[in-house]
Amino acid sequence: MLLDALLSNEQNKAALVRLGADGRLPHAIILEGERGSGRFTLARLISAMAVCRRSGAGCGECPDCKMALEGQHPDVEVFAKSGGQGTLTIKSLRTINQSVATPPNQGRRRVVILRDIQDIAQARTLNTLLKVIEEPPEYLMFIITVDNRENLLPTILSRCLLLRMELPSPEECAGRVQELLEGGVGAQEALRMARLCGGNIGRTAQLLSDTPEARVMADALALSKALIGHERYQVLRLLQRYERDRAGYRELLCDLRVIFSQLVEQKYQPQDEELSALSQRLTALQGIKILDIIDDMSRTGQFNLNLPLTLTRLGARLTGAVLG
Ligand SMILES: [Zn+2]
Repeated sequence: MLLDALLSNEQNKAALVRLGADGRLPHAIILEGERGSGRFTLARLISAMAVCRRSGAGCGECPDCKMALEGQHPDVEVFAKSGGQGTLTIKSLRTINQSVATPPNQGRRRVVILRDIQDIAQARTLNTLLKVIEEPPEYLMFIITVDNRENLLPTILSRCLLLRMELPSPEECAGRVQELLEGGVGAQEALRMARLCGGNIGRTAQLLSDTPEARVMADALALSKALIGHERYQVLRLLQRYERDRAGYRELLCDLRVIFSQLVEQKYQPQDEELSALSQRLTALQGIKILDIIDDMSRTGQFNLNLPLTLTRLGARLTGAVLG
């Protein structure tokens, strides 16, 4: 089945297949989920279902399905914050409206994918499309991917089928990431990262590839080890790398939060040899103290402070928490 290409999401897939088979795919679908959760993968799959002329649930084999899955179908257009065929801004509204008003070239449907509506400004752009979403031409289908439905107007939400993305288990996630990276990563490493990412395939793959995000995560892991090993100098040295990198610093805090949450959890449910060994050297109280410090430092106001000073303070508080 076409939708089997997406892991997990059994309820979502069943609902879509049912609607597709009955020829009742809705005119607007919202896919809500965090970045990396497979929203866009599902959007592409639904676009294939919509343009397939063989089966309402998408056959996955005809030229229409193939073109849609490869992002080459003339009746499927993607508008994104950046990249894609169009950029999602107020200016692009005109293009979107033109697109919407043009009947399909080849088949029965024209699909417009609006990718990553993550902030209010973009949501406002979308809200101006309300009219089209309220009274869409028969051939039109919108697929909207969004981090959080709260950014969208209730009037839009009420017109759309809303599907919340589900993440697969860490085991399934690790397996898929190993396929994606074509054996470039070991099973245990993949599983460890999949656990840290809560089964988010996109994020796991990103952190196991040569990306800036992966380097920050590697630093966060090294920092956690140094902290638990009372290697104060190493802690400071790792933090110093972020003296001129505010975005990296924010990311580092997020990664530390994920690692220490996992370390506290591993104390009670050991799953990963390396993480569980590390968590044995940390008391639950120390773990919780560290999480409190990270939360405190993450509050937005902190980001405007002098960065080297903030890093020194973070280092002092973290080492204090393991020593105290
Ligand atoms: Zn097909």
